Amino acid sequence: YKAKRAGGGHVAYRRDDDQESRRRLELTAALRRDAGTDAMVLHYQPKLDLNSGVVRGFEALVRWEHPSLGRLFPDVFLPMAEQNGLMPALTHNVLSQAIRQCAQWHADGHPVSVAVNASATDLRFEQFPQHIAELLDLHGLPARALTVEITETMMLTDCPATERVLDRLTAMGVDVSIDDYGTHHSTLSYLRRLHTARELKLDRSFIADLLTEARSATIVRSTIDLCHALNIIVVAEGVEDANTLDKLREWGCDLAQGYHIGRPGPADEVTRWLGAIPFGDAGVTVFGDPGL
Ligand code: C2E
Ligand code: MG
Ligand code: MG
Ligand code: MG
Repeated sequence: YKAKRAGGGHVAYRRDDDQESRRRLELTAALRRDAGTDAMVLHYQPKLDLNSGVVRGFEALVRWEHPSLGRLFPDVFLPMAEQNGLMPALTHNVLSQAIRQCAQWHADGHPVSVAVNASATDLRFEQFPQHIAELLDLHGLPARALTVEITETMMLTDCPATERVLDRLTAMGVDVSIDDYGTHHSTLSYLRRLHTARELKLDRSFIADLLTEARSATIVRSTIDLCHALNIIVVAEGVEDANTLDKLREWGCDLAQGYHIGRPGPADEVTRWLGAIPFGDAGVTVFGDPGL
């Protein structure tokens, strides 16, 4: 009340504030309506195998096609979904779409794999593996064609439920991948518990400057070696140029993703690529080789 009486500036500020909170409420209501529908669209980004030069897998990245605001990216609506209890519905929708699409590619003769990002909420939910098993069964996709990407922090919090979920996924034959590796703390104690993980994705902040920063280069090289000694596959995230890709290949990195290899694109674009069309202006990628 004081602020309101004090003068025009404060009143104006309050009005902006109200507008902002009304806007957020509207967006939350729209997300509640759309989280489980086809308004959530998956774009797929290729994962390039550096040994063979072939893409055998794609990561599904969710976009929200909002009726009036247009395409919204995960950084805008994932925190909102998390705060409003909408993550289970969203994740189920994403898994369902990704598994159905991947099964379709298999049916077309392209036995590629698909990776889906999970949130911390998903991993605490004990029915999560069972839901995945049902979706795999429904669409007839083998479990080995699915990867679930989780971030470091999800494993650091000592949570028995999360551990059971990860063990169950591994037992089912679903690969667990550690996303954005290196951006959080206590990565060594964490590596010791990595027996449930098949793959580790080195965060793009290390990849971005590995050609110019000797320390980043050392971290990347030694992480690749460490992972290989632990029998873990290494993926480089965010590769944006050919020289970086060459270095990673030279250092024995297994897989790479990034704008240089391929930007995330809608399913029909991937379907066209999979029709054995070589793509990428640097000619680094050939799609459609079987042998998952
Ligand atoms: P992420 O899983 O680490 O995905 C990589 C992000 O980096 C994607 O952003 C991708 O578009 C972007 N990216 C790929 N290559 C490059 C590159 O060369 N340079 C740069 N600068 N960026 C690159 P996006 O799609 O905005 O997703 C952001 C994050 O949102 C993801 O990070 C993931 O943590 C989360 N996310 C995306 N889809 C889902 C989902 O379906 N469920 C959940 N729970 N999280 C999701
Ligand atoms: Mg990811
Ligand atoms: Mg990542
Ligand atoms: Mg990252």
